[in-house]
Amino acid sequence: MTSRILHRGRTAPPVARGGKGPWLHLADGREILDASGGAAVSCLGHGHPAVVAAVQAQVGALEYAHTGFFTNEPAERLAEMLVGHEPGGLSHAYFVSGGSEAMEAALKLARQHFLEAGQPQRTRFIARRQSYHGNTLGALAAGGNAARRAPYAPLLADSFSHVSPAFPYRGMRDGEDEAGYVARLAEELEAEFQRLGPQNVAAFVAETVVGATAGCVPPPAGYFRAVRAICDRHGALLILDEVMSGMGRTGTLHAWEQEGVAPDIQAIAKGLGGGYQPIGAILMNERVLAPIMAGSGAFAHGHTYLSHPVACAAALAVQEAIAKDGLLERVRTLGARLEAGLTERFGNHRHVGDIRGRGLFQAIELVEDRATRRPFDPARKLNLRIKEEALARGLAVYPGGGTADGVAGDHILLAPPYTATEAEIDLIVARLGEAVD
Ligand code: PLP
Repeated sequence: MTSRILHRGRTAPPVARGGKGPWLHLADGREILDASGGAAVSCLGHGHPAVVAAVQAQVGALEYAHTGFFTNEPAERLAEMLVGHEPGGLSHAYFVSGGSEAMEAALKLARQHFLEAGQPQRTRFIARRQSYHGNTLGALAAGGNAARRAPYAPLLADSFSHVSPAFPYRGMRDGEDEAGYVARLAEELEAEFQRLGPQNVAAFVAETVVGATAGCVPPPAGYFRAVRAICDRHGALLILDEVMSGMGRTGTLHAWEQEGVAPDIQAIAKGLGGGYQPIGAILMNERVLAPIMAGSGAFAHGHTYLSHPVACAAALAVQEAIAKDGLLERVRTLGARLEAGLTERFGNHRHVGDIRGRGLFQAIELVEDRATRRPFDPARKLNLRIKEEALARGLAVYPGGGTADGVAGDHILLAPPYTATEAEIDLIVARLGEAVD
C-alpha cells in the first residue's frame, strides 16, 4: 500500500495497530517492547483500562466546548490537581495541545507579564545550547539544537541568546569539581545578562533535565539554585521546560523538586496525558499573573483546542493513576534497576562513554574513544543504526545527539512506562546490549 502521509523518511514506517503495557503490536505480527514511549510520552504504557474508560466516557459526555464561552469539568479538576497546593507556588494552569504550544505560551506569557508590569523593554530571553524546546518557529528559536535550527535560519524570533548547558560529561574541565563547574556556568550566565542589559531580559529558559538533544542530562548539584538567584537578582523569570522530564519521569512529579527551586512558568506535555490524547500545559505562579490581572485581565493568547475536555479527561485519568498506584515510588525503584542494569552491561563497553539520567529517564552516550570522549562522526548516524538494530530485536529506543556542533555524541534515550515489570526493564537492557554490540 502506498502511503499518502508525509512521513519522516522516504518510506512509510511499520504500522502500529495495538498495544498493551510497554508492548506495541504491529500489523505485520511483530511485538515491540516500547522502551522509550516514543519520546518519553507513554508513561502508563499502552491500553491502560482506566484511561481508556475515562476518554470514552468524556467523548460521550462532551467532546468540545470553546473556552471563549465555557470551561469544563475535566479541565477544572486537572488544574486543581496540578496547582494551588503551596502558598507562593504554581497557582494556575493553561492547557494546550502539546509541548511546542506550551513553550510558545510560556514565552508569550513572560513577555506580557513584563509589558503589563511597565517593563516593555524586557524582550530578551537567555536559553542554552544543546536544548530543545519545540518545533514551532518561536520555540525553535529558544532551543539551542544547531541541527534543528539550521534549515530554518534566519529564525523569525531573534530575541534569544544561548549560554552553555550544564553538561558535566562534556562541559566539566579536568580537575574541576562540581561546585567549580556550577560557579563557572553561573558566571557565564551573569555575563550574558550584563551583555544584554539585565533590564532587557524577560527570562532564562532551560530544560530541568535535558532530554533528546543531549540525552537525559541531570543538572549538577546547586546549578538551578545559582540560576534562580541570578534571575531573582535581575528581576527576570525562570521558565523550566519539563515537557520531557516532568510528570513523574524522574521520580518526582516535577523534576525541579529535586533542585530546591521552583520556576515562575513551567511547560509540561508528553507524560501529562501519557499519549492518550494530545495535551500540554503551562503552569505559572501568582507573581507572573499579578500585573496581567491588575491590567488587561487576560492572557492575550489562545488556540481553538485550549482545555480540550477529552484531552483533559485523559490527563486527569493518567495523573490519578500515577497518584493512586504509587507510581512515583515505582519510577524511583525501577529507575535504580534500569541504571544498575545499564551500568553492569555498558560500564566497561569501549564505545559507551557515559550512562546518565534520573528515574526512568536514562541514556547511554556512544563515543568512538572513551579516553578522549571523542564522539563518532555524525555522518555515520550511529544513533539511527542502533535504533534500527534494536527494532530488529523487538525493542523501540529513542536515538538522539550525533548531530549537534560536534559537542555531544550519539546517544540512546530510554523512557519506559512507570508500570513496566522488573523483567521488562531487564529485557530492555539485554536487547539494547545486543543492538549496541
Ligand atoms: N520541549 C521539550 C524538552 C521536548 O522534548 C519537546 C519534544 O520533544 C518539546 C518541547 C516539544 O513538544 P511537542 O513535540 O509536543 O511539540
